[in-house]
Amino acid sequence: MILALKNNEMLTRLPQVRGTYREQAALADVSWFRVGGHADILFAPADEADLQSFLANCPEDIPVTVLGACSNTLIRDGGVAGVVIKLGRPFGDIKINAERQVDAGAAVPDLMLSKQVAEAALSGLEFFRGIPGTVGGALRMNAGAYGNDTATVLTHAYAYDRKGNRHELKAHEMGFDYRHCALPQDLIFTGARFQTVPGDKTKIHAQMAEISASREDTQPIKSRTGGSTFKNPGGADPEGLKAWKLIDAAGCRGLRQGDAQISDLHCNFLINHGAATAADLETLGEVVRQRVKDHSGVTLQWEIKRIGREAI
Ligand SMILES: Cc1cc2nc3c(=O)[nH]c(=O)nc-3n(C[C@H](O)[C@H](O)[C@H](O)COP(=O)(O)OP(=O)(O)OC[C@H]3O[C@@H](n4cnc5c(N)ncnc54)[C@H](O)[C@@H]3O)c2cc1C
Repeated sequence: MILALKNNEMLTRLPQVRGTYREQAALADVSWFRVGGHADILFAPADEADLQSFLANCPEDIPVTVLGACSNTLIRDGGVAGVVIKLGRPFGDIKINAERQVDAGAAVPDLMLSKQVAEAALSGLEFFRGIPGTVGGALRMNAGAYGNDTATVLTHAYAYDRKGNRHELKAHEMGFDYRHCALPQDLIFTGARFQTVPGDKTKIHAQMAEISASREDTQPIKSRTGGSTFKNPGGADPEGLKAWKLIDAAGCRGLRQGDAQISDLHCNFLINHGAATAADLETLGEVVRQRVKDHSGVTLQWEIKRIGREAI
């Protein structure tokens, strides 16, 4: 099905699908930062077979990018070239088997996953309560919090490569590291299997309520943000070097340029107060990196994925 058809040569080269193609689709609407240009084409596959067939038949010179909830991604103002894939409801199921393994589609929000598993009195996925992304994004980012991460609970991930070949990956094949998965960028995850253990429902819910309250106190979760802007140089080690401390020490807490600001509450969070562009946010991030380098000698690495073209 084709929505909002315009005169786009690229569209004529794409394979027939049962899902939807949308031309010049605004991506700011789906991004946590609420910035960024358009996708040349936005593709929502009807199901896994539709995704497989699209990948097998899409000309190789057309770039393909996949997005989850866009809670860790800054889309540049010039938009994203080629096809952006957004997995929707057909990839949104959660199933729990007798071995307490949880199968979740890549489009399942982490919050929903944690809640549903808690309802089944199963423990292990509580940390997902505070992460506003999807299962697909969690696999790519090795999302984690409070001493846990995706790597510790994953048993399998399911994915398609750019040629449409299906891959079933065991956790140790993911190449997980701190906020990193080493698998090729062209892999599109369609789902994951997590191992849980029996737990006390009341305690699980209490722990999740605690996570939620602690988030509200320490992070600007109601703002237009992208979560942690830079990786902690000390990685997942709780005693390791923290990006926020370096940013604070370099005098950047609350630093504001126009509508782009380093949060006062958590100075590893970038905020869009309304009218900031992606360029404003990225520029402020680079100013912070330079100031931290000048002050402490540490070069911060972006955790936020920055994608797309600069505005012309
Ligand atoms: C308020 C706030 C708090 C946050 N707190 C945390 C936290 O505590 N811990 C933490 O780890 N993160 C945190 N984040 C960051 C973010 O939520 C996580 O990185 C999350 O896992 C990103 O998921 P997403 O679906 O939004 O991915 P996106 O931002 O859409 O994409 C991130 C990357 O994953 C890739 N990707 C997405 N879906 C797929 C797929 N199906 N197949 C292959 N690749 C895919 C994208 O191409 C991109 O490279 C926070 C963000 C915000 C805004």
